[in-house]
Amino acid sequence: MTERKCVGCGEMKPRSEMIKITKRYKDGKIIIEPDSKTFGRSAYFCYNKNCKELALKKNKLNKALKTSADLKGLLDGREYKSK
Ligand SMILES: [Zn+2]
Repeated sequence: MTERKCVGCGEMKPRSEMIKITKRYKDGKIIIEPDSKTFGRSAYFCYNKNCKELALKKNKLNKALKTSADLKGLLDGREYKSK
């Protein structure tokens, strides 16, 4: 099973339990749960509110993606219940 590291809690988790966020190489646009044709720098975090908040803290997610975009704004308004 493919495992990814959570930017929030730092644990390795199965890809299916995580949310993917990608900065597209082409134009630097931030895409949440991109399709397989989107190439860019990606980061992952667990599907829960706590890890989302941890990932946003201290700009961890911004640093992981090397972006200054308003990730909190993008991520708020989405639901992060477990699948
Ligand atoms: Zn996590």
